[in-house]
Amino acid sequence: MDIVHEADKRGWISKSSNVKRFVEEWNYKLNRNALFEHGSVLTENMFSEIDSTFSLEVCPEVAEYEYSRFLEIPEDVELVTLIVQKIELNKRNSSVKYDKQVYQHFRNYNFPPHQMVGAENVEDIPFEPVDEPEVALTVQIYRPEKKATPYDRKFLSRLPCFKIESNFMVLGNQHLCELRDKIECLSDKVIPFELSDFPDMEISTTCKDLYKSGFFYIEGVVYNDMRDPDCRDYSEPVIQWSKTGTDVMEMQKGSMENTKFKDLKLRLGYPYLYNHQGNCEHLLVFSDMRLLSDEDVKNKNAYPMLVTARHNKRIFCMVCKIFDARWVVFNNPRLPETPFMFCKKCYVGFNYDSNKQKIGQFKAYRFIDPPAVMNA
Ligand SMILES: [Zn+2]
Ligand SMILES: [Zn+2]
Repeated sequence: MDIVHEADKRGWISKSSNVKRFVEEWNYKLNRNALFEHGSVLTENMFSEIDSTFSLEVCPEVAEYEYSRFLEIPEDVELVTLIVQKIELNKRNSSVKYDKQVYQHFRNYNFPPHQMVGAENVEDIPFEPVDEPEVALTVQIYRPEKKATPYDRKFLSRLPCFKIESNFMVLGNQHLCELRDKIECLSDKVIPFELSDFPDMEISTTCKDLYKSGFFYIEGVVYNDMRDPDCRDYSEPVIQWSKTGTDVMEMQKGSMENTKFKDLKLRLGYPYLYNHQGNCEHLLVFSDMRLLSDEDVKNKNAYPMLVTARHNKRIFCMVCKIFDARWVVFNNPRLPETPFMFCKKCYVGFNYDSNKQKIGQFKAYRFIDPPAVMNA
């Protein structure tokens, strides 16, 4: 797979790390006694000085964007992160357009840190202490890539166009399936029935209820979710396919429900995969790995924790332009476009007569509006 992704040419992709070994090594390095006994990193005086000079107390109170713009970074710093930060701030100060783009980015990911878990508040979740030392991994889940139309391929300059849908923090001692259960995707929530003959029928069965299979692909291993007897082994055809190509390493089979994050070998920044509903494919990227600190939530039940999520735009009814779309109609010759979005009222008013008989021929499905379900 490295031949495809050219990981060595991409500076943001790390070398392969063993999560369990990472915890052991850093727990040892950060143990204060071990640190001072060996004397190789810091003296106790240096530690006290750093401890008293730097404070993170201001951070949770101030929006990240507003905070960073007032940073004053000295000229002669050597720390690479500060040099990069300085270049970034200069770029923002010299271009109003770029500054606006950054502001927009922060606004789109505007969740108070450590306060939101989906719609729940951390304080409301039953407390169970984390077993420390514990590793916290940040996982980015990308929006599934749209299948490109011939128009897209001809006129859009850059395809595919990847967007992060949500960021989670997970713990090393959690199973992969715990993350899967927290990932929200529209294709799980779709009602998979054509309903033009039954406009009033209330159906709660979704694709998630019918098609429960899914897998994560991480570092050469396909981890199936086989918790439900109806789940299919998605890994077999993928493994067979991997044996046929020269650009792809041969893959192995794993189990989501029997594998913990600390059992993984992974590369930060590397594009892995979450696949479900047959062909709904989300890139999955581990963007950070660190020991859980005193600043983090210590309640095991609060993880996997949704820390940021993209705000989606509402889709409106194409007739009244007032209410959210609830129905999508295909191939109706009485309409100028297909698909056509309707709110509940306009859908019934336009497509059925006073006796609730369908007018003409068309296909209709319930429309799931992302903001209505993803932020619920
Ligand atoms: Zn999906
Ligand atoms: Zn309407």
